[in-house]
Amino acid sequence: MTTKFKALHFDNQFTKVLTADEETANYRRQVAHACYSFTTPTVVKAPKLVAYSVEIAGELGLTEADCRSDFFTQVFAGNQLAEGMQPYTMCYGGHQFGNWAGQLGDGRAINLGEVLNSKGKRWTLQLKGAGITPYSRSADGLAVLRSSVREFLCSEAMHALGVPTTRALSLVTTGEEVVRDMFYDGNAKAEMGAVVCRVAPSFLRFGSFEIHAARNDIEQLKALVDYTIRTDFSHLGEPSLEVYQQWFAEVCSKTAEMIVHWQRVGFVHGVMNTDNMSILGLTIDYGPYGWLENYDPNWTPNTTDKGQRRYRFANQPEIAAWNLNRLANAIYPLIESVEPLKEALSLYSKQFVTGYQQMMAHKLGLLEFTGQQDQQLIDDLLALFALTETDMTIFYRLLANLPTDNSTSDVDLIATINKAYYQPEELKGEIQQQIILWLRRYMVRLQLDGLSDKQRKSAMNLINPKYVLRNYMAQLAIDKAEQGDNSLIHELQVLLLHPYDEQASQEKWAEKRPDWARTKAGCSMLSCSS
Ligand code: AMP
Ligand code: MG
Repeated sequence: MTTKFKALHFDNQFTKVLTADEETANYRRQVAHACYSFTTPTVVKAPKLVAYSVEIAGELGLTEADCRSDFFTQVFAGNQLAEGMQPYTMCYGGHQFGNWAGQLGDGRAINLGEVLNSKGKRWTLQLKGAGITPYSRSADGLAVLRSSVREFLCSEAMHALGVPTTRALSLVTTGEEVVRDMFYDGNAKAEMGAVVCRVAPSFLRFGSFEIHAARNDIEQLKALVDYTIRTDFSHLGEPSLEVYQQWFAEVCSKTAEMIVHWQRVGFVHGVMNTDNMSILGLTIDYGPYGWLENYDPNWTPNTTDKGQRRYRFANQPEIAAWNLNRLANAIYPLIESVEPLKEALSLYSKQFVTGYQQMMAHKLGLLEFTGQQDQQLIDDLLALFALTETDMTIFYRLLANLPTDNSTSDVDLIATINKAYYQPEELKGEIQQQIILWLRRYMVRLQLDGLSDKQRKSAMNLINPKYVLRNYMAQLAIDKAEQGDNSLIHELQVLLLHPYDEQASQEKWAEKRPDWARTKAGCSMLSCSS
């Protein structure tokens, strides 16, 4: 009987270095004076492999034969442990929707251990949906196929887009039913259970540090910070007061980078609680996320946040800053001085603003952001998007086709971008006039850079994706998978590996969201129920 994957070399630093919960029985509880609890995944009835990612498998050294083996399915459903695995769940807390929520923890995620790949790079393997843990609180520790397809596809799609993210190795169904009330409205139904294996250098969150500070457990806090620096920020050197400050500054900087990417591709996370903020600045915990289709800065896909819209698209940069403030408060006991923390926080704001300006300039095909006039051009463009429903992704791709020749007629200008509009019949009168005015100003600005149209287009097409995982696309894949047909998951996996390339046979996935998806559950409305 197979018991190991040849390529997976576990070194399990996390459990070696940090303090374990003394209790090893698996029941829900508060876990103090520890960073994790040893926890075994729950065995499931009839696991079946739905999909795996060739790319992250390759990164781990797993072959196609490995991934197609029954052993792989058993291990990544949580039924069997491969040699070297030592499963554990992490204790963390978090601020949810602005309020301290106390202990949360890996309620349905179980780490299998950490491997070092052939290049010495560290990867943690983590099952999501593999049964109850000490941190499950009142929930069941399980996940349904619907949310698991969304997490699996989006993790890998984000990576291909160049957005820092946790990865996803595998998606299996468990052969068991999981009951969910999708909109918390009394309409519970049985759905297919599933487990995703996520992969990241580390799954630590801001809330992993907050929990120890909230309990005034400085010993655990220091141990965890030191561990993080030594394992994931080793370039900073051995932990010291100075290194703590540099470390926090780097977390701020990585977070700023991630948010710039989200704003670039139109990704709305949906639940930016501090327990969903990775210490490595990775997009983590794909729940009720969504993609801006018609550009609306106030949009959030998460119906649970409908009233306040705390996590709406335009608020993401500010929420990240708020979350970093919570992290600063948590690590203050190690630094005992406000100034360096404040400095790092203002670095976040500065880096976000500069990064955002540069990113927006590049989306427009400009060589550099050159100041106030470019800012005005960007602001005015975003205001145009509000005049009539404009598909953000399509718009930037079409804008790359704009001829900068001054003699281009108004009709030709509009024809270039026409397909980005949900109500093209609204492109007349004042609205059309404003769009044309903007396009002509843009053309004048382009001439300053002196790029050819061809050069500009290839630069723009490297930053403005043609294909993103529009909410309705994921939903179509889910609907099929729930009927036992996984073909669309596989098709989207391949499509989204090359989001910036023209893929002639796949034009349909680069089109506007179909009308039926405007109000359909899973396409425009999602919740935390998963
Ligand atoms: P989320 O809003 O998905 O980030 O989850 C917040 C917290 O609830 C985390 O501690 C999760 O582990 C936990 N959680 C979410 N869903 C479940 C579930 N079905 N069973 C156990 N814990 C869960
Ligand atoms: Mg979470």
